[in-house]
Amino acid sequence: MEKQLIIFTDSGDTIIDESTQVYDERGIVIHAELIPGAGEALKALHDAGYRIALVADGEEQSFTNVYIENGLGYCFHTRTISEIVGIQKPSERMFQDAMEKNGLTDADKGRIIMVGNNIRKDVAGANRFGITSVLLDWSRRYNLVPRCADEEADYIIHEPSELPELVERLENQLKNGSQEL
Ligand SMILES: [Mg+2]
Repeated sequence: MEKQLIIFTDSGDTIIDESTQVYDERGIVIHAELIPGAGEALKALHDAGYRIALVADGEEQSFTNVYIENGLGYCFHTRTISEIVGIQKPSERMFQDAMEKNGLTDADKGRIIMVGNNIRKDVAGANRFGITSVLLDWSRRYNLVPRCADEEADYIIHEPSELPELVERLENQLKNGSQEL
């Protein structure tokens, strides 16, 4: 049975451990390692039938390189990348692009979650856009203390391995008729 929940996800410090990134002379990422448990979580969600859209800031070639290297590229139904869109998160154009690429409209916003590590980009962007925000606070790279209500995540997880369970819980809420996650 088709899943109702749609997953938008960031990459850096959400799936990829940014501290392991190796760059070439043009600033393109040529190697990176996964956050422990992130590959397993992504595969599990994909295999369970969830539609997963990458919504990430950076250069297209960097994402191509790392997702060829780790073999997880097939998990993304679509890729929305700031270099292509021409603007970074929290711009609503990034989230709008992901919706359009997946044939979704405003009526679907109630069943979309955005998973990310950055409260200013991922969380605030998702909240302002009207979709559900999930903060992964595994990385301490950025300040995780909200400065305004927009930066407060709807849900917080500490490790990628917690995501499949949260997703399943939210999917069940949708299946039981909840209009809001
Ligand atoms: Mg990130």
